[in-house]
Amino acid sequence: MSRKIQKGEDGLSIQLTEKDLQEIVGRVIENVEEALEKEKQPTVKSKVKPIEMKISDTLYAPSVQSNIGNFGVFENTVDAINAGYHAQLDYMKNYQLKDRERILSAIRSAVIKEKQYLAKIVLEETKIGRLEDKVSKHVLVAQQTPGTEELNTESFSGDDGITLVEYAPFGLIGAVTPVTNPTETIINNTIGMLASGNAVVFNVHPSSKKASAFVVTLINKAIKEAGGPANLVTMIKNPTLETVKELTESSKIKLVVGTGGRGLVKTLLQSGKKTIGAGAGNPPVVVDETADRKQAAKSIITGASFDNNLLCIAEKEVFVVDSVADDLIYHFLDQGAYMLDQDQLLKLMDFSLEENAEQQATGCTLDNKRKYHVAKQWIGQDAQLFLEKLGVNKPEVNLLICEVDAEHPFVQLEQMMPVLPIVRVKNVDEAIRLAVDAEHGNKHTAVMHSKNIDNITRFAKEIGTTIFVTNQSSLAGVGFGGEGHSTMTIAGPTGEGITSAKTFTRQRRFVLGDGGLRIIG
Ligand code: NAD
Repeated sequence: MSRKIQKGEDGLSIQLTEKDLQEIVGRVIENVEEALEKEKQPTVKSKVKPIEMKISDTLYAPSVQSNIGNFGVFENTVDAINAGYHAQLDYMKNYQLKDRERILSAIRSAVIKEKQYLAKIVLEETKIGRLEDKVSKHVLVAQQTPGTEELNTESFSGDDGITLVEYAPFGLIGAVTPVTNPTETIINNTIGMLASGNAVVFNVHPSSKKASAFVVTLINKAIKEAGGPANLVTMIKNPTLETVKELTESSKIKLVVGTGGRGLVKTLLQSGKKTIGAGAGNPPVVVDETADRKQAAKSIITGASFDNNLLCIAEKEVFVVDSVADDLIYHFLDQGAYMLDQDQLLKLMDFSLEENAEQQATGCTLDNKRKYHVAKQWIGQDAQLFLEKLGVNKPEVNLLICEVDAEHPFVQLEQMMPVLPIVRVKNVDEAIRLAVDAEHGNKHTAVMHSKNIDNITRFAKEIGTTIFVTNQSSLAGVGFGGEGHSTMTIAGPTGEGITSAKTFTRQRRFVLGDGGLRIIG
């Protein structure tokens, strides 16, 4: 720096060139940045030590094997809660919206990078669904779960001043996840919950605990690499119904979110906490006489066979108007579905359904009024396994269809097998009536194939589901080939619908009264 020092009447003065000034400003900015960086160092630290994970505890991918350590998986519920609680305080105190986005972007990238591995370990552990569809689900949630962009502040201004409505976090969330989309729900919930400034403790389905521990580790590692706090996402290593209770009873948990069957939602609603409940579905499809049958068959096969029909939004039963039923079935067969004859159907029912001796369903449906439940070992299995058991060799088939009446257990149960029952009906009125019946008031998802806008409107009104898809596969309802963001938590029973960052917030109103800051008029 070239400075000229002069002596005047008032003492020494320094003359600075433009270059000098730029240099000084540059240094000041550097110092301020350094100070801000220091301030960001976590000030609140959890005293609880997470357990050291061994490789044998999870099925680690090669890219994370080298750095296994304290990444959010805790032996007991209290430790998982305390760590998450302190992480959230740190997150709110020391991180801004732009930091949240940086963290989310690291999580998205980590998931995309490990998508194949994640799909593989979920399939290996849960033994349900299809590998390629699980890869797609991971990509979907990583890319199409909204972040902080949803949290736009709302404002009102007028003669009396200005009012702002901001979306604030609840704090620490307790979330329960299903076996059907285990890691996908963790990723989707995490992105939404962290975007809105929360931390989360997961109680995962016990049959998915290893894959879940892997993804919780992966997420925490990504957060750490992005400069975020440790343990923003935690889980209980060996989850049970007892640990769900511990979670919901903790005073540190301010919101509970449950994705699963009716029993889970009912339990969480009894917790006395604010609950977001995403429950069971049994999505009916209505095909009327105006539908494009070829397109309808294609869309229905896509949705009903995806991940072997595990998704809660998947087409589970079809009601088709008699005058077009043969044509629809022709297109099903033409596009690779396999029609079971009556003998095969009886055999398939024989091995895949179990009678409810005590009128108590177990597994995936908890409706105790049904006479049957699906045998656990057949849920989410490949169509090929069913065909093999029936002695049929058709290697390319991934959806079985059958003609049944409306009372058939395959229609009434949320069976989650790649076996799609088709019911012929006189007309669209009967189709709508039976479809509403088969949905059992879940208010979850329904699909219609029709070109008659009056029929579409009537079915949508009468069934009142959270998701209503027309002339597309049910997958479009969660952003697969349809507009709108994605979710793995569709909260029908408690009304939040397609959950995302904004769902996990509290509204807070800030009022600047007495005409304050008003600049117009
Ligand atoms: P599930 O209800 O058996 O289990 C879900 C989770 O809840 C698990 O973690 C389980 O351990 C826990 N749980 C089960 N019963 C409980 C109870 N009584 N009290 C406390 N916790 C309990 O469901 P699943 O078999 O894992 O998943 C399939 C079910 O979930 C289907 O009914 C499907 O429709 C539904 N589901 C809904 C959505 C949605 O967004 N609405 C998404 C995925 C799955």
